[in-house]
Amino acid sequence: MTRNAANKALADRDLAVVWHPCTQMKDHEQLPMVPIARGEGVWLQDFDGNRYLDAVSSWWVNLFGHANPRINAAIRTQLDSLEHVILAGFTHEPVVQLSERLVRLAPAGLTRCFYADNGSSAVEVAVKMSFHFWLNRGQPAKRRFITLANSYHGETLGALAVGDVGLYKQVYQPLLMDVITVPSPDCYHREAGESWEQHSRRMFEAMEHTLAEHAHEVAAVIIEPLVQCAGNMRMYHPAYLALLREACDRHGVHLIADEIAVGFGRSGTMFACEQAGIRPDFMCLSKGLTGGYLPLSVVLTTDEVYSAFYDDYARLSAFLHSHSYTGNPLACAAALATLDIFASDDVITANRSLAATMREAVEAQLGDHPNVAEIRQTGMILAVEWVKDRRTRECFDWRERRGLRLYQHALSRGALLRPIGNVVYFMPPYVITPGQLGFLAEVAREGIDLACA
Ligand SMILES: *Cc1c(COP(=O)(O)O)cnc(C)c1O
Repeated sequence: MTRNAANKALADRDLAVVWHPCTQMKDHEQLPMVPIARGEGVWLQDFDGNRYLDAVSSWWVNLFGHANPRINAAIRTQLDSLEHVILAGFTHEPVVQLSERLVRLAPAGLTRCFYADNGSSAVEVAVKMSFHFWLNRGQPAKRRFITLANSYHGETLGALAVGDVGLYKQVYQPLLMDVITVPSPDCYHREAGESWEQHSRRMFEAMEHTLAEHAHEVAAVIIEPLVQCAGNMRMYHPAYLALLREACDRHGVHLIADEIAVGFGRSGTMFACEQAGIRPDFMCLSKGLTGGYLPLSVVLTTDEVYSAFYDDYARLSAFLHSHSYTGNPLACAAALATLDIFASDDVITANRSLAATMREAVEAQLGDHPNVAEIRQTGMILAVEWVKDRRTRECFDWRERRGLRLYQHALSRGALLRPIGNVVYFMPPYVITPGQLGFLAEVAREGIDLACA
């Protein structure tokens, strides 16, 4: 593909001044930067008129396509009345309405909304609130957190500490609080003949023992319900969540559900916790909250937690946490427009057939591929794990960076597929068509062929 002067000029200016996220910048000595001029629906378009199908929803945030007319209109309207206002001592219509609607949508009993402006900050809020709840209740010893192996909760120091992806965490270990890490229910590791449910139930035994031993010093267990997204899209059965809820209650420990990636229909239900019929003590939301438009996050919690902070000022029991852009009205307006689309278009039902189509398309291309160890799916997330040998599941050496070949092939074919290690996944906007899913599956198959060659 020839890249025109406008593409190249912007890429050059970029590389002179921008330091990109999650990137070894030296890679760009070989790897071309992709400048994007505009987006429309599932498509991103560069300055040369090349289009890329956004199969990863621009890092899992987009739900209803780029430049969605309904969300665009809502932001424009809000812009004409109020762009931003401090949320301490002041309030505004979009944040009140959004809170009312989130409380109605969330598992019953989550009645209070505390806002921040990105996922990691929401995790920080939940972690601090849980610790502070126990402190206000006269139990200062409860200050540790239990987390699952292979989990991911963000990049700020508190969020990094309660996560477990070594690639992001290891370097910063000396800066991080100490957590208790329990084996993951990840069903990729189930034994031959074992069902997802059997495996997830069996893996719960370690959690039960850990809770029994440490509950006196533990504030909360934090989990990503059903899918460990950044941890190679590993998945587990809802039965684990039901067991965990019951055990947290029995041991007097909070449950923090990080639905930042899986919320808003990604898991097949509005919130993943619904599939286990549970209500966490804290539910963190971000990413899809604004339809992928603007940074916003929220922690929903219970009256019980809220009331533990509610007292005369002099008792100093308030939650004195804030971010400058907390509850930004433009972001709230985008979120309200996103919830309007869920309400009017019966999105969850429509996604069920879209998810089935996605599965069929990928099975047709990769179902019996000699390098594919597993095709797994939870709702609108589908992942393909490729290996050196299907039977032994032996992996290629990570230093060979075979995923990059797939990534570059996909770009050349007009698709944005961004593998995590040796896993290629589809997490597309919900406005994708069956034909486009077929195209992505074909590109993924070609990419895996190249990566494994
Ligand atoms: C992306 C993500 C976060 C962090 O959100 P940021 O907005 O990137 O800080 C936290 N938890 C999960 C499960 C995520 O996928």
